[in-house]
Amino acid sequence: MAASLASAVERVLVRVSADEVVDLTRRLVQIPSVYRPDEPDANERAVADLVAGWLREEGFTVEVDEVAAGRPNVVGCLDGSGPGPTLCFEGHTDVVTEGDATAWRHGPWSGAVENGRLYGRGAADMKGGLAAAMVALAAVRRAGIKLRGRALLAALVDEEGGMTGARRFVTTPIGRSVTAAIICEPEQNELCLEQKGVFWARVWIRGRMAHGAMPYAAVNPIAVAGHFLAALPALERRVRRGVPRSRFLGLPHVTPTIVQAPVRGVPQNNVIPGEAEIRLDVRLTPGLEPARVLDAIQDLARETQGRWAPAEVAVELIEPPRPATRVGRSEPVVQALAWAMRTVSGRAARFGGVPGSTDGTIFRSEAGIPIVTCGPGRRDIPHQVDEHVEIAELLEAGRAYAAAAVRFLDGRL
Ligand SMILES: [Zn+2]
Repeated sequence: MAASLASAVERVLVRVSADEVVDLTRRLVQIPSVYRPDEPDANERAVADLVAGWLREEGFTVEVDEVAAGRPNVVGCLDGSGPGPTLCFEGHTDVVTEGDATAWRHGPWSGAVENGRLYGRGAADMKGGLAAAMVALAAVRRAGIKLRGRALLAALVDEEGGMTGARRFVTTPIGRSVTAAIICEPEQNELCLEQKGVFWARVWIRGRMAHGAMPYAAVNPIAVAGHFLAALPALERRVRRGVPRSRFLGLPHVTPTIVQAPVRGVPQNNVIPGEAEIRLDVRLTPGLEPARVLDAIQDLARETQGRWAPAEVAVELIEPPRPATRVGRSEPVVQALAWAMRTVSGRAARFGGVPGSTDGTIFRSEAGIPIVTCGPGRRDIPHQVDEHVEIAELLEAGRAYAAAAVRFLDGRL
């Protein structure tokens, strides 16, 4: 880069305008991109089209990759002037359902602005962050800054479901080229270096059905389930051993969320059911691998089955586990974004942790990409009625993304 870093950043920052970020966020929010398998016109296609068209107009090279029908990933690429690292800004284009639209202060697809906030489903989670990143990278290009390597904008599908968009992206040639990523999820502009992991398990218990008057003729799966449930707190204490308490995420949890018996058919006062089912919601923190908890659950299932024979107790995973992730503060992408936050806000960067998993979980755990999760919007606002994003935060994120891109790609980290 010919000019000094400070003057390059200056030239980029004057090109990140609040009006433009707000306008783009509103246009994205006004497209209801809820995944509805029975409605071919729902899903992410219309938002993806808007993103792809906007990026092309701004001079990005754009790749569109249909992950499933009506569900295209869009990746915009801004090439630098020479070889170097690839920095990816990531956002998802799907949103969750609006719920009861009449309960909203402003229509969930309005993008209405009031008292410095933009309202609507996806305003925070995460069309605001996506718009901020798009405007930030466009500003880098408009300023004519020549960078080493390249910057990507990845707008991916299905984060709220199985994260198939991220799973696909990290296997593509362009996805495999990513050196580091900023995940633009709503974390109130805190730099989150840790994300919780999760898996769900089904514990299935088969006993023997019988008349309630003759319990001696039954193997009651409800009693077996009771034994299993009573042992869970001790199991949780066991798997926590040796796992450091995370400053931001606390400790891991093993929580029963569903208990059901009978599993099928109509329950009746005088019928001992033949089967019971327990669902477990397991939240992982860095330092605890999913397999360790799954092994402990399986051990407990075997122990329970041994004690309650001839009852059978089996455990199955409901979908592949998402491990907890962590990156160190010394990662260049963290350094670049912390520097950028300080530069645009005048105060030290704030750090935090992501209570759930994001597309970044896939980037980190499946492809080993260093990630930092940081974007505008209150952490607890997603999926609620009256979802909104503070416009000041939107602008701060856009400016920080732009400065981070320049810093990361200027070759000095
Ligand atoms: Zn999200």
